[in-house]
Amino acid sequence: MERFLKRHLSVTQLCEQSWCEIKMAYGFIKPKVRMLEMQKTEVTTGASIHLVRELEVKPNVVTVVAVTREDREALKLISMLQMVPALEAGQLVREFPVFGVLEGMFFMGVVDELYRSDSGELVLSELKTRSHNSLPRPAQTMGHSLQVGMYKLLFDSMVKGSATRDHLLHNLQLDPNQVLGSDLQTHTQSLGLQAVTFRELLDHLLVVLTCSSLHAIDKLRLEYSHQSSGKLIGTREVAFEEAQLRTKIRGYLAYWRGERVPQGVEVEEAWKCRMCPYEETCDWRRDRSQRLMMVNKRAKLECPKSDDPKQDGSNLNGSKLKSNTGSSPELNSPKHTEPQACLL
Ligand code: SF4
Repeated sequence: MERFLKRHLSVTQLCEQSWCEIKMAYGFIKPKVRMLEMQKTEVTTGASIHLVRELEVKPNVVTVVAVTREDREALKLISMLQMVPALEAGQLVREFPVFGVLEGMFFMGVVDELYRSDSGELVLSELKTRSHNSLPRPAQTMGHSLQVGMYKLLFDSMVKGSATRDHLLHNLQLDPNQVLGSDLQTHTQSLGLQAVTFRELLDHLLVVLTCSSLHAIDKLRLEYSHQSSGKLIGTREVAFEEAQLRTKIRGYLAYWRGERVPQGVEVEEAWKCRMCPYEETCDWRRDRSQRLMMVNKRAKLECPKSDDPKQDGSNLNGSKLKSNTGSSPELNSPKHTEPQACLL
């Protein structure tokens, strides 16, 4: 956390981590590459679709000048203060901020969509747009499931009153006594809110959340839509297994707490490397490739007979190794479990 000058994490960061920890860490030390990745058409189109959907339910956009960091955070709180009664009244809300402490770490996130189903259940839905008109692979939905599960944990703790003023102030290093900017004060008054300082606004929000009729999220849902046609590809309901989810979160946090080195993708998921912007320079991938070459050499020396199964490209586990057309071999070496010495 100190190395990357971070005091808290975002939910999406943990989801990126679940894809490949090395890739996420490279994003910090090679930010230009990450920036270029974020400018890809697929990413920018997805962001535009999200914005259009947000504006569908927020037609009256007001421009407010935020002067301080407290002002910027206050805008999020005001947005929540407007969405809580709307949600209570049965309306659909989009881009709902969530925050709180999970497994000792302060997280922030933004829920895509909250609404009540026909049967009255409180549904949390996350929209994922795709350039391919097909549902994603299980490895991709794993990160999406983690995301909605974490949103539920945060939302539930907020309505139960577990998210406190100190959590937000301390972790974001905000000044509770900071007077809100004049533009912001005019805006809060126009909404009927009496708050001059950041603390007053935050306290008001926490009371509104805990005294509202909102309860824990009942259902988690993923919605996949095709970017170019705008058509729905499909939806998936996500099972909420709290104990498993918390174990996963603790596992990811062990890296952030400096308890272990980051892990790259395992052999079974080497296909991820082929779509990774760090593929050519990734030390994890290079180490794995070198290991594979050594394993192959050893296998040839130990089993020189042509009828030996390992001669026909099977690895030491007995499964087939893919041949690689490039200069370095494919990442299909047997799974290694020992810790990796890594540059990160
Ligand atoms: S090349 Fe593979 S292991 Fe390396 S950062 Fe990219 S996805 Fe991770």
